[in-house]
Amino acid sequence: MNFERPSLAALSGYVPGEQPADARVIKLNTNENPYPPSDAVAECLRSFDVDSLRRYPPPLANEFRNQAASLHGIKAENIIATNGGDELLRLAFTTFVEPGETIAVMEPSYSLYPVLAKIQGCKVLSVPLLEDWSMPGDLAQSLNHNRVKMLLLVNPHAPTGVLLDTDYLGKLLQEFSGVILLDEAYVDFVDTDLHYNAIPLINSYDNLLILRTLSKGYSLAGLRFGYGIGAASIISPILGKTRDSYNTDALSQKLAVAALSAADAARANADKVRRTRSRLVEGLNLLGLQTRPSQSNFVLAQVPAKPGAARLYEQLKARQILVRYFDQERLCDKLRISVGTDAETDSLLESLRELLG
Ligand SMILES: *Cc1c(COP(=O)(O)O)cnc(C)c1O
Repeated sequence: MNFERPSLAALSGYVPGEQPADARVIKLNTNENPYPPSDAVAECLRSFDVDSLRRYPPPLANEFRNQAASLHGIKAENIIATNGGDELLRLAFTTFVEPGETIAVMEPSYSLYPVLAKIQGCKVLSVPLLEDWSMPGDLAQSLNHNRVKMLLLVNPHAPTGVLLDTDYLGKLLQEFSGVILLDEAYVDFVDTDLHYNAIPLINSYDNLLILRTLSKGYSLAGLRFGYGIGAASIISPILGKTRDSYNTDALSQKLAVAALSAADAARANADKVRRTRSRLVEGLNLLGLQTRPSQSNFVLAQVPAKPGAARLYEQLKARQILVRYFDQERLCDKLRISVGTDAETDSLLESLRELLG
């Protein structure tokens, strides 16, 4: 017997990037941070009191919420801790969108969004980005017209690295009558001289829910810790109703607090990533792989028709270098390449020189 809901039978699940067991592989395919987590995290893990695991964890992760609130200059009531950013995405669906209602995503963007929508039984409005990956002009009107309940917007954008500014976001929040889930998974890699900060918008717009994660900026993808930021009114139903009673575990909570307490160390790593990003872009462009400026820890590179992106992906893989290839419209002639260490970047550029030369 197949007991699966019929609506799920037709659904293909989210396919994560490959995680090879071989440690020698140069992994530039899933946007992990190439640098280790801070010493504060390592120290916290070493001194963790195993006996404390006998008890259930603090249900709301209040120590973490206080820490995050003080880091961002807001209140604990504006923060919800989640089991990775992905859990916050799932909670946003179950909290704000009834089955049968419509959510909107930009096309292309994070392919988990439509999967979560279908699990919740929602309709998906896909709004294509313009030719240069910019936003269509009449977005809010078209979302309202289609009775969209929630827009999932990743900023800086994945997989292009394009950043929307806060003036634009404020205007969109003003005009759109639904919730905007602003996915800031990659915000830690935005150039600091842009002074991008969307958090103050939560004071003016109660339809804004910002996603943050420790996976990328804090080098903790293996930990599974993320958080949401928003007005108390948008945080409170998630906190009090849709969340699992103990959605983050005791060990993760402690390590996440340690990570945020050493935010400077994470910022120093992000600086290194930004510097390497410039070198990577320069190197790719010299080899004829066009890129647009990226505000993220990856770049999207256009591959010439010969050899083509699919073939180049395979050739790099044969050399133990993994990058991300998307077999879909508008992306199938490109490769998304995570910014690694300088040495990894050199190896990648060296291989590309041989393969394309
Ligand atoms: C990595 C990522 C997330 C969150 O990832 P978690 O590891 O679950 O915190 C969310 N959105 C995008 C676009 C991402 O790339």
